[in-house]
Amino acid sequence: MSTTQGAAQTTSGEIFGQLFTHDHEELVFCQDKHTGLKAIIAIHNTVLGPGLGGTRIWNYTNEADAVNDVLRLSRGMTYKAAISGLNLGGAKAVIIGDAKTIKTEALMRKFGRFVENLHGKYITAEDVNTTTKDMEYVNMETSHVVGLPESMGGGGDPSPVTAYGAYMGMKASAQHVWGNDSLRGKKIAVQGIGKVGGHLLEHLHKEGAKLFISDINEEALAKYVKEFGATVVKGDEIFALDVDVFAPCAMGAILNTDNINKLKCKIIAGAANNQLADENIHGPMLVEKGIAYAPDFLINAGGLINVYQEHIGYNRETAMRSTEHIYDVTLQIYKAAELSKTHTQQAAMNLAEKRINDIKHVRATY
Ligand code: NAD
Repeated sequence: MSTTQGAAQTTSGEIFGQLFTHDHEELVFCQDKHTGLKAIIAIHNTVLGPGLGGTRIWNYTNEADAVNDVLRLSRGMTYKAAISGLNLGGAKAVIIGDAKTIKTEALMRKFGRFVENLHGKYITAEDVNTTTKDMEYVNMETSHVVGLPESMGGGGDPSPVTAYGAYMGMKASAQHVWGNDSLRGKKIAVQGIGKVGGHLLEHLHKEGAKLFISDINEEALAKYVKEFGATVVKGDEIFALDVDVFAPCAMGAILNTDNINKLKCKIIAGAANNQLADENIHGPMLVEKGIAYAPDFLINAGGLINVYQEHIGYNRETAMRSTEHIYDVTLQIYKAAELSKTHTQQAAMNLAEKRINDIKHVRATY
């Protein structure tokens, strides 16, 4: 059943149309004058379980952009949870404003009360501009929050698990392309060597890959040049590099027509969210170029798998073991894409949708 609690005055006429397009269940507008909180929670699909997705604080240009973003992100969470075999649905929240100025204990706790009012249909976590500390404040008002520090029984920083999943996806891609999953001696370019990219470099270095790195953070670059003998690449030059694997681990939408035209790699496997600028154009374009693409929402699901463990009782070892399964699913997706003559992003979405529909059927009877 779909309901809307509250509605943005300016766009209320269009909002049901937007919910209808991708069949979102619920959109909740939260306002608090005292703290200045303006938040939107989108619940996309709860067939598999409660909708889980982080809370992003962003200074959106206008409310319509915030609505678009939360609808798009919540739908992405549905696919990520479904393909990872988790009993979770998809949801997400955005808080509108500049995190540097609006974020206070009271604002985060007020947001927690709105989450509490959804009685567990939505479970929140950290995302862009929110931290484990913020989730501690949210947790003072609701138990429907994950991504808590290890000292509070949480899973702590999820990025090592995300990086491990991306590494599994990359090895499965190597197996698919070269018939052998070893990355020893392979030339691998990593764009973005932050929390996830940094941990990914550790796995790749241990396996004996030749590393190329790009980042806007000079300090991080210097660290990996020194520790792993990585070669630094300037800005956009990373796209045209003659490497075996390209691993986007910074921003989304970088696989656009211009950049894809420059690529010389055989595999793209990285952790960044929403890498394809337009999946209907750039998914098929990668197939035409003969580049194997490991779908981002499949191979970067380690973080979600990690917080799911927190939801059912945290254990890092189980989280890592579940994340290893990304290897098998990635291979399955390459085969499915070839069989159905489609691109891997589409094949991965088809598999996720099939699981949701199958489970919906299972639950059709008492
Ligand atoms: P992060 O902020 O720690 O790292 C991102 C890195 O990218 C930073 O070092 C930053 O300086 C760099 N960067 C920014 N702009 C750049 C540019 N133009 N060129 C090169 N480098 C640039 O973030 P993270 O947690 O490592 O996440 C990386 C990506 O993975 C993001 O897209 C994120 O949404 C996605 N992701 C992360 C997780 C997780 O567990 N952290 C889970 C799923 C997906």
